Amino acid sequence: MKEPLILDGRLVAKEIEADLLVRSQKIIEKTGITPVLATILVGEFAPSVMYIKMKGWACKRAGIKSRKINMPEESTTEDVLNKINELNNDPSVFGILLQHPVPAHIDEQACFNAISLQKDADGVNTGSFGLMAMGMPCFKPATPFAIMTILKRYNIETIGKNVVVIGRSPILGKPVSLLLLNADATVTICHSKTKDLPQIVKRADIIVAAVGRPNFVKADWVKDGAVLIDAGYNEGAVGDIDLENAAAKSSAYTPVPGGVGPVTIAKLIEQTVEAAELALL
Ligand code: NAP
Repeated sequence: MKEPLILDGRLVAKEIEADLLVRSQKIIEKTGITPVLATILVGEFAPSVMYIKMKGWACKRAGIKSRKINMPEESTTEDVLNKINELNNDPSVFGILLQHPVPAHIDEQACFNAISLQKDADGVNTGSFGLMAMGMPCFKPATPFAIMTILKRYNIETIGKNVVVIGRSPILGKPVSLLLLNADATVTICHSKTKDLPQIVKRADIIVAAVGRPNFVKADWVKDGAVLIDAGYNEGAVGDIDLENAAAKSSAYTPVPGGVGPVTIAKLIEQTVEAAELALL
């Protein structure tokens, strides 16, 4: 069998950032305004602290600013809603990210829904979801958008392909399924109550794993030549697909790390720049 193609997320993110730098410079030259992405972190969950740092670095590389807002773990839903409202009304802020997951006592979706659609750079508002589902212009959830971008960048055909998505979370499995459906794939969505999962996965031309369990998808579930998109990121930088054994059976795969993750961050920044362009140019 041919060597599988590595779908290099770091390379794709670099290409996106290079384009964003040009676009952000144009905004600054024309308006004197440097777009700001505001990030809200509630609590000190270590991986989230790292993600916020990485998003801040990516802003810098793309020529925009990040404003980091840290809120204490004991913040209430109302505290977060008030902060989002303040940022909605701040004309220097063009994108708002509430880092997922928030502490369990906070109503995360209510907070997501408070983010103005014009500033929803992470595509988490239910309104953005509805527009996305209908194939209308909107800001898309960053990870699903990243997956679609990777497929497009590497000319991986989705029309008429059997795609199996494992996971149906509101930020990942469900929206990526709809984006793939809108891209004319035949989509099967699996979850924790799905029966005969290995047999279903075996039919897939493209597998999207969004489960949150290390090495969950086994090599013998994978059809020869399938495309593997591993959105998972578990402790120790391990994905949801047993890539060590499954990659060799695939025609192409996203590595972990260095696959979906870097492109997710680039898409967040891209949508912030786009929000600024729409508001200012
Ligand atoms: P989540 O909210 O925990 O959702 C996990 C999904 O997997 C649920 O729909 C669940 O089904 C399903 N599932 C759990 N056990 C299963 C099983 N045994 N068989 C079939 N389905 C099962 O997780 P998430 O937020 O979507 O994240 C998923 C993964 O993606 C995680 O590893 C996360 O770290 C990663 N992630 C990566 C990025 C990135 O930028 N690369 C961004 C976000 C998330 P039910 O609905 O039935 O419970």
